Amino acid sequence: DLVSLRRALISVSDKTGVVEFARALAARGVELLSTGGTSALLREAGLSVRDVADVTGFPEMMDGRVKTLHPAVHGGLLALRDNAEHQTAMADHGIDPIDLLVVNLYPFEATVAKGADYDTCIENIDIGGPAMIRAAAKNHLFVNVVVDVEDYAALLTELDANDDRTSLAFRQRLAQTAYARTAAYDAAVSTWMAAALGEAAPRRRAFAGTLAQTLRYGENPHQSAAFYTDGSGRAGVATAKQWQGKELSYNNINDTDAAFELVAEFGGEAPACAIIKHANPCGVATGATLLEAYTRAYDCDRTSAFGGIVALNRPLDAATAEEIARIFTEVVIAPGADEAAMQVFAAKKNLRLLTTGALPDPAAPILTFRQVGGGFLVQGKDNGRIQLADLKVVTKRAPTDAELADMLFAWRVAKHVKSNAIVYVKDGATVGVGAGQMSRVDSTRIAARKAEDMAEALGLAAPLTRGCVAASDAFFPFADGVEVLAAVGATAVIQPGGSMRDAEVIAAADAAGLAMVFTSMRHFRH
Ligand code: 5GP
Repeated sequence: DLVSLRRALISVSDKTGVVEFARALAARGVELLSTGGTSALLREAGLSVRDVADVTGFPEMMDGRVKTLHPAVHGGLLALRDNAEHQTAMADHGIDPIDLLVVNLYPFEATVAKGADYDTCIENIDIGGPAMIRAAAKNHLFVNVVVDVEDYAALLTELDANDDRTSLAFRQRLAQTAYARTAAYDAAVSTWMAAALGEAAPRRRAFAGTLAQTLRYGENPHQSAAFYTDGSGRAGVATAKQWQGKELSYNNINDTDAAFELVAEFGGEAPACAIIKHANPCGVATGATLLEAYTRAYDCDRTSAFGGIVALNRPLDAATAEEIARIFTEVVIAPGADEAAMQVFAAKKNLRLLTTGALPDPAAPILTFRQVGGGFLVQGKDNGRIQLADLKVVTKRAPTDAELADMLFAWRVAKHVKSNAIVYVKDGATVGVGAGQMSRVDSTRIAARKAEDMAEALGLAAPLTRGCVAASDAFFPFADGVEVLAAVGATAVIQPGGSMRDAEVIAAADAAGLAMVFTSMRHFRH
């Protein structure tokens, strides 16, 4: 099953490494065929190349839409070398075999990511490239197909190991990659078109990803797992650079994502920090400095913060790094880190530091997916944002400015807490988080108990919930939740409203002297 290479067709948009690769092929006696731009580059580098136009007898035309779509190319890729009829057809029509196809496609994904207009995106849909890739991959019994620059070296290594030939197993791997590439390409095109048409529920959906990391296991050691990038290039855990520490695990990646998406809510505002455990925040705070933001986030729930994931909304500095390094932290993610901060962490070998260059855009129109039996659910990411003007005061007492500021902060945090979510906030810092309970009143109690525990640990006279505000991700179905809030010392409440018993809930707030506002927006997160 070993195949030797006599002719290669090289047609690449990303020209990285192609000259060196072509030179290595030529040195092994491989004849080179190529399309316009690639040909010119190889010729410039002193290589002898034959133009595809010369093989097809047709010039490249229609702005390059038609270059390689010709039987002289596709016959050379598809003909079975051990089939007499195919061989006769080749001889009759003067078709020469092509043993290696090297193609990378027009940069459609990158063009979309740049925000190009509709016509430019359309022009960047490669037609001949995918056609050749699919043909060569189908005929992998005889043909090699390379679609990734990373595989140039792999092919040369394979040739070295097999006396200038390739094994069937190798060609099968190349073919599998090739089909994933064309599938991903068309998935990107159809996803872009659905978005361009404003189509939230297209009849067919296609997804694809590129392996970023094989994971040792999934959520648990007996589960297999891998991490894929979606090609969007959006800043986030998938595009982060890891500076130190061992590989991220499945749970680390999931938690780091939750942390970074949360802190991105505070994008260009004051320094902010979020500490995450099991995808829920155990402390979120703003501060005059990053150090203050971290310290205040940590003081929300020091017990849970141990072994947590820390996300920051601006570049890590040395003072904050020193403070973070005092306890065991799994991962720190930030848009950047200065030299001094890097040095502080260098001594902490196990601490992973990730930088991304930018924060995720919390308003980006992204889709989220969840697998269910026999299918998957797709929805737009929760990009809901509430401004001051959206709030409706429903109690006798109107909130103070300080309460309003804290309520908006608490509301933003609540969006990132698993339902039922209750978030207590004071002075721009969470002081209690109740997450993931099946009853809302339990979340109010748990958050309050956390605040009491912290007060004890910090040696405070009273829990920080005294005089705090509270956010609830969904309406209170009964008055009992609000009664608990009042009992723990909250003075103001932000919640969507809309319960059948809103009147009872408002009456309970009035009876306790609480200020309450409705957002008319819910932030369920399950
Ligand atoms: P070059 O820079 O060599 O002129 O063009 C290389 C690009 O052209 C590659 O990305 C390749 O996939 C693409 N390509 C090759 N043949 C065709 C074709 O017939 N139609 C279109 N639209 N693209 C092609």
